[in-house]
Amino acid sequence: MQRTLSIIKPDGVARGLIGQVVKRLEESGLTIIAMKMIHMTKAQAEGFYAVHRQRPFFGSLTDFMSSGPAVVMVLEGENAIARYRDLMGATNYKDAAEGTIRRDFATDIEKNVVHGSDAPETAAFEMGYFFNAFEITPR
Ligand code: GDP
Repeated sequence: MQRTLSIIKPDGVARGLIGQVVKRLEESGLTIIAMKMIHMTKAQAEGFYAVHRQRPFFGSLTDFMSSGPAVVMVLEGENAIARYRDLMGATNYKDAAEGTIRRDFATDIEKNVVHGSDAPETAAFEMGYFFNAFEITPR
């Protein structure tokens, strides 16, 4: 079993896509074991994306991620990190495979609706960034 962090980004929440994203997650067989809505400050978004600090889009990305509420979740399942990355699709929605969340809903390389951890180490950091042990409820 593996766990991964999922975020429905501010564009997804603002556009009323929470239900459609959650439906896809549940239908995929991944289990949502933690979930809450947050509105990150700019500093919290900068901390979350600290690995991207040197990238040219860091300022814009952290402005976007702190621009409104987001839904954060922990997903659990066998091979959950890769399975959820497959459901999300490529970072740039134009390159994302048919039927993926980003292909179907994203409007922009930055405003791409969802985030997912890319490795066990980043998943551990990202889950700990938003959830404490009491907020995670495995079945
Ligand atoms: P991810 O793991 O697929 O989310 O992609 P990355 O870790 O490479 O990038 C993190 C996030 O930064 C992406 O999900 C986008 O929201 C944003 N991003 C990535 N590349 C670009 C870019 O070239 N321009 C802008 N403006 N944002 C980007």
